[in-house]
Amino acid sequence: MPFSAYRPHLEDLPSVDIRRLKAKGMFSVGQIEALEVDSKRIKLSTTKPKYGGIRYWFVCPQCLTRRVCLYRLRGHWKCRECTGLQYRSQAYDKQSQALLQKARLEAKLESDGSKPKWMRWPTYYRLLEEIEYYQDLADQRFLESRKMPTMEKVKRIIKRTGY
Ligand SMILES: [Zn+2]
Repeated sequence: MPFSAYRPHLEDLPSVDIRRLKAKGMFSVGQIEALEVDSKRIKLSTTKPKYGGIRYWFVCPQCLTRRVCLYRLRGHWKCRECTGLQYRSQAYDKQSQALLQKARLEAKLESDGSKPKWMRWPTYYRLLEEIEYYQDLADQRFLESRKMPTMEKVKRIIKRTGY
């Protein structure tokens, strides 16, 4: 039977979004080299947009690329690609697949869920187990969708003040 390990979704992980920090005024003073988020240091990178000013990016601690958003997985901040996880919308598809799979199996039984006359008992019990498995899988996806992400604690690490 295709059992898969529990995996959270990106939305379930604590995340930091550079745009949200900017909106909160995090970058209004001086030049910032790094942020300390939940006691972990995240390096920042800057680019200079054509219209002036300065744009901040996170540097993914794992792949070292510039990122707008990072996620915390097992105590480490990393970008979406580095987590190897999906957004919930992608998992919804999986939930639908699980329910569809369950419906396909149920269609092999009598409409009240009993064993068709021609079916062997071991086959019937295996089908019941598989139906239960797909129901559990669908329930698990539903429960995951109700989790709320936690808010991060962010501390500025200021390299120097004033431009
Ligand atoms: Zn990365």
